[in-house]
Amino acid sequence: MQYSEIMIRYGELSTKGKNRMRFINKLRNNIQDVLSIYPAVKVMADRDRAHVYLHGTDYKPVAESLKQIFGIQNFSPSYKIEKSVPALIAAVQEIMTDIYQEGMTFKVSSKRSDHDFELDSRELNQTLGNAVFEAIPTIQAKMKAPDIELRVEIRSEAAYISYETIRGAGGLPVGTSGKGMLMLSGGIDSPVAGYLALKRGVDIEAVHFASPPYTSPGALKKAQDLTRKLTKFGGNIQFIEVPFTEIQEEIKAKAPEAYLMTLTRRFMMRITDRIREERGGLVIINGESLGQVASQTLESMQAINAVTNTPVIRPVVTMDKLEIIEIAEKIDTFEISIQPFEDCCTIFAPDRPKTNPKIKNVEQYESRLDVEGLVERAVRGIMVTEITPQAEQDEVDDLIQDLL
Ligand code: ATP
Ligand code: MG
Repeated sequence: MQYSEIMIRYGELSTKGKNRMRFINKLRNNIQDVLSIYPAVKVMADRDRAHVYLHGTDYKPVAESLKQIFGIQNFSPSYKIEKSVPALIAAVQEIMTDIYQEGMTFKVSSKRSDHDFELDSRELNQTLGNAVFEAIPTIQAKMKAPDIELRVEIRSEAAYISYETIRGAGGLPVGTSGKGMLMLSGGIDSPVAGYLALKRGVDIEAVHFASPPYTSPGALKKAQDLTRKLTKFGGNIQFIEVPFTEIQEEIKAKAPEAYLMTLTRRFMMRITDRIREERGGLVIINGESLGQVASQTLESMQAINAVTNTPVIRPVVTMDKLEIIEIAEKIDTFEISIQPFEDCCTIFAPDRPKTNPKIKNVEQYESRLDVEGLVERAVRGIMVTEITPQAEQDEVDDLIQDLL
């Protein structure tokens, strides 16, 4: 027998009172985005549950995708059964014979939202329980923590049977906390920072600074591939490429070596903030981790942060490198992050950047530059593309298998 749908139970959003429908609609759209790689699959959501209709698609890869989407508590693959007692008996017997292993205990838990159905839930439990005994005479029933709990639901359109509950990712549906700009390099830390912001419902847009020809198309593609990896947690992400060459050349030409890094970062922050304002974002998110490199001393953070009042969220700021790498591996960004394409910061990085830059000096060096004009040109030159989820190779193989 093949699963026909997956029933989804909502996470934390259940407690959000009148915002509930907004949460549910966001989550439904996110699920739709993520599952768009399975063309036959359809998604529906109501107040209490969401339903993913498989229409013949194998449930396993779909379940793998669902496990990653924020805002889902848990879900159950279900069989759709004709709403009649004989059909339910036959289905229950077939399913149980299939999954039963020596010594397992079971129980039937029925629920009837269609009150016109001929049996009530107690009678259903009894009838279907007896059907199980008939098929597997040696099986034991157990009311508390049985090995198999067969859940039967009689709804208006059909009956549904499920026995597995798969844990979801928790968190909040992406988009329910508003929008933020993720400063995304090609490194290990910023994708992890993005993932952690997504987890708490922030709809991120990825801002990437590129300095061609000093940075290669490979570096740009790397940032886009990282962004694509982040789409599996909540759907499509806008990728914003910022032309940064002119600024880097100007800084290099006019400021002392030791301050290149600080000045560069202040420009990045200003530009990200301007883009945020124009696109209705509320925060900036970056991958800074305290003490990791010269730009990440508290003195540097202060000098860089001084260009804006906008809240800057640093999800990995107190994590050790190994803790960050552990998450990067879990979310499958690590392998991409360690590809050897240099980003703009590495290329223009001074040998010995200042770890305690003085604001007074910073401002003096910046006065040699047309800060406003440089920022303005960079912001006018951005290129925005929408990054959508892409099937992994094994999913592609499954899809082809389904078609054959
Ligand atoms: P990451 O591993 O994220 O690259 P890092 O440890 O290399 O971080 P830095 O190079 O100092 O640290 O960068 C600090 C943060 O600045 C990054 O996490 C990212 O948020 C932002 N950043 C650096 N370079 C870029 C870039 N080219 N485009 C966008 N953001 C950047
Ligand atoms: Mg980096």
